[in-house]
Amino acid sequence: MQVKKYDVIIVGAGFSGAVVAEQFASQMNKKVLVLEQRNHVAGNCFDKIDSNGVRIHQYGPHLFHTRHVNVWNYLSQFTKWHKYEHKVLGSIDGKLAPVPFNLNSLHVFFPKELASILERKLIAKYGDGAKVPILELKKTDDTQLQELAKFIYDKLFVNYTCKQWGCKPEEIAPEVTARVPVVLSRDDRYFHDKYQGVPDKGYTALVKNILMHKNITTKLSCTASELVKLDIINKKILVSGEEFNGVLVYTGMLDELFNYSLGELPYRSLKFKFEQHDKEYYQPATTVNYPNEHKYTRITEFKHLQPNLSGIQQSTTIVKEFPLDYCRHDLCKSVPYYPILNDANNSKYLDYECLIKEFCNVLIAGRLAKYKYFNMDDTVLNAIEAFEEFRGKYNE
Ligand code: UDP
Repeated sequence: MQVKKYDVIIVGAGFSGAVVAEQFASQMNKKVLVLEQRNHVAGNCFDKIDSNGVRIHQYGPHLFHTRHVNVWNYLSQFTKWHKYEHKVLGSIDGKLAPVPFNLNSLHVFFPKELASILERKLIAKYGDGAKVPILELKKTDDTQLQELAKFIYDKLFVNYTCKQWGCKPEEIAPEVTARVPVVLSRDDRYFHDKYQGVPDKGYTALVKNILMHKNITTKLSCTASELVKLDIINKKILVSGEEFNGVLVYTGMLDELFNYSLGELPYRSLKFKFEQHDKEYYQPATTVNYPNEHKYTRITEFKHLQPNLSGIQQSTTIVKEFPLDYCRHDLCKSVPYYPILNDANNSKYLDYECLIKEFCNVLIAGRLAKYKYFNMDDTVLNAIEAFEEFRGKYNE
């Protein structure tokens, strides 16, 4: 591979790799080579139309939402949006109620009078519209609110979290369960950000558009880990054994990049089971969570996302998500979807981060390389900021 003609090599063609590539190409007129190990771009956001005529998300449901106008405007250069606001129901004790648990959910499970008392107490203590993480609500000193917190924890969080992470809510970083707080309003949406939607032609088309710049070359089915190495002693980037003097942008796992020299960073993986059903709709909302039943955590029905797109009326496609431990030696478990955030893992990550910081021409971005539970908008924002920081140093 003729790498000498490129100024920047990027490992990974997911959102972060694509955005950093586009920034180097458009803002600094650099020649960029993007290496992607899969046979498609868009990373875990990859979507496609299935035989039912429904656009499915191959690696699980992706719903775009952001409060950052700059992220929304940046992506809007590359896609139009289909207006969509995500709704999730939880299946609890044979009833379906809004998730996040909110004031409407309260009235599903408790008799009217008690629900009204609890509602008044919650609002008096935390404020109208407040978002209270379950682990915070559990600390309340009010006996009735304590019982409510126990109900929500037992019925919605503890078993779902055990399935999803293999541990209890207290054993992972509190920000993980705080992503789905108890919401003191009647707003049934899953996200409350100002900007929400799905790319009208899908995420794959969006990422392809980002990579469309004339200065960018993308190579698919290319295992970068065999090609790109770091010379730890001399602090050099090696490509096919030769020194590369340009910039390396790495969006994969840092432990892999350093050949696991400081041990493995734990990740959580998923197995997806897609099913087609001969009915117009399978369930009443895009996603139904099953905290306490089944081995899967949730079912997503893609038709709800873009109903006008669905080709065959009397058929629908769903996916069930089965969480698993990540294992790089087992093909069925070898996609790292989530970093497992806790003190021990974060500290191991920081050791790897120290190693990467010694390479001034290596930039890292994305959920894997940063070992952060980024949403898509965080990923885009982080990629833009990582590029800006690099450009700042470069121009000094
Ligand atoms: N969670 C839960 N029950 C639910 C939904 C979420 O216990 O019905 C917890 C669980 O620990 C989960 C975390 O909240 O991993 C974050 O949920 P989110 O929906 O943000 O997860 P993602 O969509 O990123 O998989």
